[in-house]
Amino acid sequence: SAIISLEKVSKIYNLGTAKEVVALKDVSLQIKRSSLVLLMGPSGSGKSTLLSLIAALTRPTSGKVVVDGQTISKLPDRFAAVYRREKIGFIFQKFNLLEDLTVFENVIVPLIPTPTPLKELELMASAVMERFAIAHKKDMVVRKLSGGEQQRCAIARALIDNPPIILADEPTANLDSALTEQFLQILGQLKQEGKTIVIATHDPRFADLEIVDEIYEVREGNVFLS
Ligand code: ADP
Ligand code: ADP
Repeated sequence: SAIISLEKVSKIYNLGTAKEVVALKDVSLQIKRSSLVLLMGPSGSGKSTLLSLIAALTRPTSGKVVVDGQTISKLPDRFAAVYRREKIGFIFQKFNLLEDLTVFENVIVPLIPTPTPLKELELMASAVMERFAIAHKKDMVVRKLSGGEQQRCAIARALIDNPPIILADEPTANLDSALTEQFLQILGQLKQEGKTIVIATHDPRFADLEIVDEIYEVREGNVFLS
């Protein structure tokens, strides 16, 4: 059964102005629970927009987005923030870490708006930092970490809340092949745990992996199952 469903979703930026951009056109798709799905296509084809819609970071111009039984396409911002905290872990291409804060401080960012006691924050952070082999750097500022450490810190932050859905936007763009291999192993584990994973990428290394269930081709705002 589908955990993510888009029904005739269009996204037009700057609607009605001279700078109007049709980023997605009438896209319908269904993503099964516990599957790993790729969105592949050139830069500017609409992949990030699709992820943003699933994360309720943006709203569609028309159409409907349903995630885990909840219609999110019209959620007001404050409910969208709650939705994201409960359901979504987002891994960004440039990691989006706060460079002058420590690993620990970055990892707990998603929990800051919640009334979680410090002791519990520390326990949750330790568990996830250990899992992704970054606990030994917990008090180091992110700016001083290597690329791979920054990636693992970003993954730890995305997963501290144990979200059922993981979205990743070009997650390997800044990783060499050894780190990419490590990242793919992590994805395999997460999939085995039952997470639903959606990855926007043009990295051909993903395309023939056994853990990939479905590949969508994104072309100029159109999405095709390939
Ligand atoms: P991709 O992730 O495949 O590179 P995007 O979803 O980022 O594609 O972009 C799709 C199209 O929408 C591009 O033409 C891009 O310039 C445009 N776009 C993306 N975000 C915005 C925005 N916030 N405002 C205006 N245009 C945007
Ligand atoms: P990507 O690397 O996924 O293609 P971009 O570098 O194109 O992402 O975009 C980075 C950010 O800028 C995104 O949040 C995107 O929504 C926004 N953006 C992209 N294109 C435009 C645009 N033409 N106008 C305004 N914002 C844009």
